[in-house]
Amino acid sequence: MAITGYCVKCKEKNVELQGAAIHKTKKGGYMAKGKHGKCGTTVCSIMSEAKAKAAMASGVPAG
Ligand SMILES: [Zn+2]
Repeated sequence: MAITGYCVKCKEKNVELQGAAIHKTKKGGYMAKGKHGKCGTTVCSIMSEAKAKAAMASGVPAG
């Protein structure tokens, strides 16, 4: 399952996160963190709980 986010360096939307992992935020939300393959910048993507759980079920590791 590809997780996408916004790369602030490239100002590009829907870039695929390389090596993505799901992190839980202090507020109890979820976000995915990975790297943009093109530039190596860390890209974060806020996720709903349902989406985060679906991603983890499909093999995305928890960070
Ligand atoms: Zn980038």
